[in-house]
Amino acid sequence: MELLAFLLILWCVYVSDAVWWTASDRIILSGSRFGEFQARRGPSLELREGKGFAAASLLPPFHYTFECDLHRGSESRTPILKHAHIERLATQALSAAAPLRMLGQGLWIYLFAVTPLTIALFGLLPTWRPLLAILVVWVITIVVMYRRAWRRLYEAKPSAWTSDAALMVLSPPGAIGAADRLTRHALAAVGGIRATSVIASPHEFCRIARLIYFDHESVASDAVKREIDEILDGRRLREIFDAAPVPEPGMTGFCHRCHAQVMRDSGGCPDCVGLAITPFRPIA
Ligand SMILES: [Zn+2]
Repeated sequence: MELLAFLLILWCVYVSDAVWWTASDRIILSGSRFGEFQARRGPSLELREGKGFAAASLLPPFHYTFECDLHRGSESRTPILKHAHIERLATQALSAAAPLRMLGQGLWIYLFAVTPLTIALFGLLPTWRPLLAILVVWVITIVVMYRRAWRRLYEAKPSAWTSDAALMVLSPPGAIGAADRLTRHALAAVGGIRATSVIASPHEFCRIARLIYFDHESVASDAVKREIDEILDGRRLREIFDAAPVPEPGMTGFCHRCHAQVMRDSGGCPDCVGLAITPFRPIA
């Protein structure tokens, strides 16, 4: 019973360390391999006015996340980073974070499987010292590697790793997400649209670009739309962007923003405000 309570508290601490506050002017990219990242705009749990919580993956295998500003890069004042440069930034971040991800997954298994099992089998009294010693060594290893990776990635602010490190020491479950914490701001200098076009697949880029481009609720600025247009033309993605989804059996219409399919060929999309259904077949 006490063991269950301990696990529950541990889980709550872990989750509270893994979520962060974000807003709808952010693009959050998550994935584990370059070219396969998934994009979303803003929080996964919206609380007020487009602001809310985003969460990293809570169960192994963990993903890396990048958080980028939707509007950065679309303003003419900021210099546009080249495709190859963004690619290099992303791969650097991913390779620096890879060992931390392994250690984080190990720590997750240690905290949520090995430790409770050991206590259940042998009791707390004879085991707590070695269990705690292993935990301390593990967290210190993560912090040391985090410091090294941080200094390599964020040369402009070499000492900013300390606040993250303090959190990991004070709350060891927070060290599980060290890799995620490391990569999160690595593409901050890159606009969200451009970052997505580099590290997500063309189909994923077009999916999120459609959601932003045709959003009638939180309307994207002309600058953001222009940036999407530039990428669609420059990377020859216009065809994928404009393509209708493959019709599922019985479906007669779709939404050109979210690609939801419906059994009618007119009316509005059930999910998008102000979007009309497009018929699969032109009405004769
Ligand atoms: Zn829709």
